[in-house]
Amino acid sequence: MRIVLVGPPGAGKGTQAAFLAKNLSIPHISTGDLFRANISKQTELGKLAKSYMDAGNLVPDEVTIAMAKDRMEQSDAVNGFLLDGFPRNVSQAEALDEMLKAESMKLDAVLDLEVPEDEVVKRIAGRRICRNDSAHVFHVTYQAPKAEGVCDTCGGELYQRDDDSEETVRKRLEVYHTQTEPIIDYYKAQGLVVTISALGKVEDVTGKAMAALKGDGEGE
Ligand code: ADP
Ligand code: AMP
Repeated sequence: MRIVLVGPPGAGKGTQAAFLAKNLSIPHISTGDLFRANISKQTELGKLAKSYMDAGNLVPDEVTIAMAKDRMEQSDAVNGFLLDGFPRNVSQAEALDEMLKAESMKLDAVLDLEVPEDEVVKRIAGRRICRNDSAHVFHVTYQAPKAEGVCDTCGGELYQRDDDSEETVRKRLEVYHTQTEPIIDYYKAQGLVVTISALGKVEDVTGKAMAALKGDGEGE
């Protein structure tokens, strides 16, 4: 399956993607995680991306699309992938369509995670991620690690993302509404969107997402 996850920052895309990717046996491809890996390795791409990320802006399309394409072309993604955080505007969605068309492929679904803004703000405020791998995500109260400040998965140090500060979050939400939300209509026109509420326990949201992706009518 080829799936795109959309939803505001803090909706739980990364958290759900970890479970969905495992259930569906496809790789979880997060452009945010790819940028953060570049930042920790101090690559040129990482240096460029950091300045945009810290301001809550989107990294320019040209570099983002090239990075996403490169990842999607790796051997583990030949039979499908779960995209998290990409595409993030209509130009990126068009570029993705072109890429897939060139390989006679298409998307199977766009899973839209709905969460009210006040909940998203609480989720982001308490989010802690692992220094070793930003796909290891926790929350100080909602998804607390067994030992404070230590990643359950790999023992790495947990920290708060630089762009999870209150001011940057406000900017990221604005960017989501103005630039990313229009991709939902873009994909609705292709009949691909399934929307679920991402409120509630992580495992319940995963169950709803799996049901919606299988098209058995339990999505909302
Ligand atoms: P996104 O990838 O959409 O930005 P994350 O998956 O990083 O969102 O989740 C944001 C924060 O919310 C994390 O701290 C995560 O632990 C927490 N979280 C995710 N899903 C839920 C949920 N269903 N209920 C409560 N907290 C959640
Ligand atoms: P995320 O981890 O998905 O919350 O993304 C963190 C930040 O990385 C965003 O606020 C952007 O600055 C950048 N980013 C991630 N994905 C993209 C994308 N598809 N296009 C542009 N910027 C992105």
